Amino acid sequence: MERAFPTLHREHFDVVVIGAGINGASAIQHLASAGYRCLIVDKGDFASGASGRSSRMLHIGLRYFETPHPLLHFGLRPGRLVTAVRLARQAMAAVEEHLADAADRIWPYRMCFPIYRDDPVKRWHVAAGLRLLSLLGKGRVHLDPEMVDRDYASKIPFFDDLRDTGSVRAIACYREFKFDWPERFCLDMLFDAERNRAVLANYCTAELGERDGKDGWTVTLHSTGNPSLKPAVVHASLVLNMAGTWIDDILPSHRGRIVQGTKGAHIVVEMPEKYRGFGIATLSRLNQPFYILPLHKNLYSVGVTETLFEGDATDVACSDDEIDYLIDETNHVLPGRALRRSDVLRSWAGVRPLTYSATEPMGTRTRELHDLAGRGFPGVFALTAGPIMTHRSSGRLVLDTVAKRLPPSAPPGRIDFAPYRFSTGENSPPLLADEPEVRVSDIEFGVLKEHAKSLTDVLLRRTGLAWRRNLTRSEAELAAGVVAPLLDWSKEEKRVQVEAFMAFQDTVFRRPPAAERIPDTFKPEKGA
Ligand SMILES: Cc1cc2nc3c(=O)[nH]c(=O)nc-3n(C[C@H](O)[C@H](O)[C@H](O)COP(=O)(O)OP(=O)(O)OC[C@H]3O[C@@H](n4cnc5c(N)ncnc54)[C@H](O)[C@@H]3O)c2cc1C
Repeated sequence: MERAFPTLHREHFDVVVIGAGINGASAIQHLASAGYRCLIVDKGDFASGASGRSSRMLHIGLRYFETPHPLLHFGLRPGRLVTAVRLARQAMAAVEEHLADAADRIWPYRMCFPIYRDDPVKRWHVAAGLRLLSLLGKGRVHLDPEMVDRDYASKIPFFDDLRDTGSVRAIACYREFKFDWPERFCLDMLFDAERNRAVLANYCTAELGERDGKDGWTVTLHSTGNPSLKPAVVHASLVLNMAGTWIDDILPSHRGRIVQGTKGAHIVVEMPEKYRGFGIATLSRLNQPFYILPLHKNLYSVGVTETLFEGDATDVACSDDEIDYLIDETNHVLPGRALRRSDVLRSWAGVRPLTYSATEPMGTRTRELHDLAGRGFPGVFALTAGPIMTHRSSGRLVLDTVAKRLPPSAPPGRIDFAPYRFSTGENSPPLLADEPEVRVSDIEFGVLKEHAKSLTDVLLRRTGLAWRRNLTRSEAELAAGVVAPLLDWSKEEKRVQVEAFMAFQDTVFRRPPAAERIPDTFKPEKGA
């Protein structure tokens, strides 16, 4: 049951979680099932931060070994190899866990990694990486690796589109996975926590308040959905700051920085039928991982960039330069596709909440649960650099840490990773004829049971419909017509909601202007 914001005033919780991205959601799911009385709040909708803007890869971890000169890179600093192996082991464990109980929400595809004669990445590098991953996966995750080095066209239907096919030495092929779709994973964990009596509040900004005696904190909550509501003050024995790139903003007087944002951009383009079921992985000309990945039907995402980001990530979007860079790199990998700006159907960007480092300018990918006691915040913890794919182990890490400090105030419940079933409206019609998986009753369910408060919440995060393709104004109006009576929207409010969704689509998922240009200004930092 959703709780009205003012009724939270003066309540006491074992744990208050600030930020309902993938890591906050996993944390509260684990804590609530263990019997902790928890509240989670998000300043926007659930999963509207980095967790709703990722590349959606549940990758097997090969990227941690992708470097042009592995002998030098790992040989000169063996610590890097230890880190790469640890991250790869976590990645393989995450794949195994998801295959076991969420197999219908992750989907496999065949990744192809072309290796050229004069590439710094050699055939043996990739083969060794895949072998190591198979060992780390202890044979439980089948990667079906194959080093294709002849009869290319019969195994790789898009082979002729590749650059300089005469110089291809081999194409490493293996199984990879994607989340469909990460926001839904986030929501499912939150609703499982709710079944275990956790309280969820979206559109609610949290401010860390005073130390509450010696045993806890006050947290002040401001409604962003209805600013006329008076703030509510809640009490928490422990506070988890899971606010992603906004982590440092929540600790107004803290000493030292915790999070480093890096921006990643993607574009979405249509690919011919011969690409179906395949993805392409390579290193960009800046030696950054570069992927062309299946997204939905014949739509593919291309990405990703990595540049330093400072500022507010809320409405972050791709610049024209980033879009042109991605087009240019795609044409370098696949000249046969001859991509143009006018082929870009949409774009999106996100900001990774990496771990700040005084020595690594781009931050580090080492996931850390920071105990902020040493910075004057006893009982406050913050998590950085937790990717989507290892969110379950983040939840367990949080639970272990909390359990060492505080006993749960109620008996444990049951944790349930089963995918949440949408509405039971078997006979409900689809909203749009060409996307039959999203039914009118799913939209109703999102509003009535899943805390959706805006048309964008429903179309993007509850049903995923707006990820599948660009929606027209009349399609948005159709959806708004379903939502309006349930949320008591007036005619004017309904119009405002449609405008807000269309504005979101035009800006956050923006298409570049049609005019073509030669990209020359975008320079992502090297070697992130
Ligand atoms: C471009 C890109 C590509 C990526 N690709 C992948 C990938 O393929 N696979 C993968 O596993 N990972 C990927 N990642 C990484 C992954 O998306 C992030 O590491 C992960 O989503 C971080 O989740 P989080 O819960 O820590 O933060 P977030 O998802 O950002 O959640 C933080 C939440 O805190 C809320 N918040 C902030 N301040 C407040 C406040 N004061 N009060 C209340 N709420 C607040 C925000 O609204 C937000 O919802 C990618 C990330 C990016 C940006």
